[in-house]
Amino acid sequence: MTEPLTIRVRKALTEVINPETGRNIIADGMVQGLIADPGGKVQFALEFTGGSSEKNQALFENAKTAATQVDGVTTVSAVATAHSSKSAPTLASKAAPPPSAGGHDNPLGMKKKPRIEEAGETLSGVKRIIAIASGKGGVGKSTVTANLAIALARQGYKTGILDADIYGPSLPTLFGLHEKAAVNDGKVVPFEVHGVRAMSIGLIVDPTQALAWRGPMVMGAIRQLMSDVEWGELDILLVDTPPGTGDAHISLIQSKRLSGAVIVSTPQEMALADVRRGAQLFRKTDIPIIGVIENMAWLEMPDGTKQYLFGEGGAKQAALDLQAPFLGAVPIYPELREASDAGTPINAPDHPVSDIFSKIAEKVVAY
Ligand code: ADP
Repeated sequence: MTEPLTIRVRKALTEVINPETGRNIIADGMVQGLIADPGGKVQFALEFTGGSSEKNQALFENAKTAATQVDGVTTVSAVATAHSSKSAPTLASKAAPPPSAGGHDNPLGMKKKPRIEEAGETLSGVKRIIAIASGKGGVGKSTVTANLAIALARQGYKTGILDADIYGPSLPTLFGLHEKAAVNDGKVVPFEVHGVRAMSIGLIVDPTQALAWRGPMVMGAIRQLMSDVEWGELDILLVDTPPGTGDAHISLIQSKRLSGAVIVSTPQEMALADVRRGAQLFRKTDIPIIGVIENMAWLEMPDGTKQYLFGEGGAKQAALDLQAPFLGAVPIYPELREASDAGTPINAPDHPVSDIFSKIAEKVVAY
C-alpha cells in the first residue's frame, strides 16, 4: 500500500539540507503546516530563523523542487516566513511593532512590503477595521460581534463582519450561512445578512484542516480573508479574532490597518492574565483599546431582578485596571442564546438587548 501523499512529501523534504545547520529542513522544524490534498495539491510554509537571503532563496527553491518531484503531486504552493531566532516566544517580543516588517520580514530578501501589509492596503474602501478579542473562548465574543455589527448597521453605518476565528468559526452558525461563498472575478463575495456584509474563514476553508495550522498558515489565511474578499465600501469592519493572542492578531496588527480593539469578557474572566495579555499586545503595538464589553454580566429574572452569577462590578474595575473605557454590560438572555444558535441573532428593536447593543455601538463609533 502506498503511503499517504503528505507522508511521502514529508520524507522528500527530509532530503533537503539546511546549509546553516547541516540538518534536514524537517529535522530543523522549518516546515510548517504541510498539507497534501487528494488532488495532489501541496501546501507548506518554510520558516527561516536567519541566514543570508541568497542561501534562503536557494533552500526555498530546493524544498519546492523536492516536493514537486514526489509522485502524485500536481501543484506546490509554498510560502517563506521568517522569525527572528533571538525572539523568545513571549508576547512582548512577538508583539513588537514591525518597523521594517519586524520579526516576520521578508526572508528571501526581496525589496517588497510584507504581503500581509499589502493585503491591508487592498482594503482601501474600508474606513475602520476593529478587532474583537477575548482572553478565552466561550465568553460570547462572536455573539457580541454579530449583535454589535447589526446595531451599527441599524444606525446607518456600512458594516462588515469578518470571522477570523480560525480555530472555531461561529459566524456561519450565528448568521445561518451554510452555502459556499460565491467567487466573482477571483474575489470572494461576502454575504449580506441582517444588513451586514459577512464572511467567515469557515466558509472558505475546512475548519478541521485549520486546526492543524501553525503560524504561517494562519497568517496566510488572514491575508486571504483580507485581500481576496470583495468588501467594497465599508464604514466599519469588525474582525472576530480567535480567543487569546496569537498569529491571527499579529497578522492583523502587521496589516497596519487596525483602528482599534474591543475586548469582550465575562465578569469572572476579567481579572485573568489572558485578558491582560490581550490588552498588552494591542497597547505595545499602538493599537488603541476602544473598550471592554462585559458579557453575561447577570441573569435577568422574570420578576425583573438581577442575579449576578459571576460576581458584580468586576468588569468595570477590570476596565479601569486596563485603563480602557467600559463600553457596557450585556446580561444573560436565554433567548439570545436560542436565537444565536438558530442562526437568527436577535435584531428585534423592541428586545432590551437591542438597546444595549445600540448604546455600545454609539460608543464604539464615537471613539
Ligand atoms: P465565543 O465567540 O467567545 O467562543 P460565543 O459567542 O460562541 O462565544 O458564545 C458561546 C455561547 O454562549 C453560545 O451558545 C452563545 O449563544 C451563548 N451566549 C453568548 N452571549 C450570551 C448572552 N449574553 N446570553 C445568553 N447566551 C449567550
